[in-house]
Amino acid sequence: MTRKFTGPELVIATHNQGKLEEIRHLFESFKINIKGANELNLIEPDETNNTFVGNARIKAHSAAKLSNLPSLADDSGITIDALNGAPGVYTANWAETSGGRNFPYAMEKTHNALSEVDASYPRTAQFRCALVLAWPDGHDEAFEGVIEGSLVWPMRGENGHGYDPIFLPNGYNETFGEMDRWEKNKISHRADAFAKLLSGCF
Ligand code: IMP
Repeated sequence: MTRKFTGPELVIATHNQGKLEEIRHLFESFKINIKGANELNLIEPDETNNTFVGNARIKAHSAAKLSNLPSLADDSGITIDALNGAPGVYTANWAETSGGRNFPYAMEKTHNALSEVDASYPRTAQFRCALVLAWPDGHDEAFEGVIEGSLVWPMRGENGHGYDPIFLPNGYNETFGEMDRWEKNKISHRADAFAKLLSGCF
């Protein structure tokens, strides 16, 4: 049986303000006191697993132990079929430069990797999201969401974050970078995982 969240407080185990805001928005209609990891000064554990769920588990359990509260963690990224699923759990790492994370650089790198293998069109890819809700007693529930699409070049749009400007979701003419933010949040991998979390635990 899936364990239910019984409130009133929930920690969102992320130091990423964008994710925190998105998750707050998704929980808006629930009477839950949401706390961010920054607010509680929680340390960020190393993401040492090779799956999205595995890394979300590490983050959720670390926050649940440190805060003694139920904690929700998200791990996400993009998987590209012609690159055998890369960058996958290393999505954020592909953006690392000596000057910090640079996503136009990461998208350029992605495009170059596709050119190197002479990838055919459409260059199919998925955004994936794992959500893990962990309790201080060590129990957890995990949910995975996905959105299918293809990669375009050059980048299109100024909205969103990360790899949004090169991701064209199936059935749409706008990339995630061109789409209105709330429109994207209705169909995204995170929204898909969220719907599963809500029906499972809330
Ligand atoms: P995480 O913080 O380890 O989960 O890193 C996830 C990375 O995947 C982010 O840094 C983004 O680059 C990328 N990513 C995840 N979700 C999205 C999205 O909705 N749009 C664009 N990029 C995303």
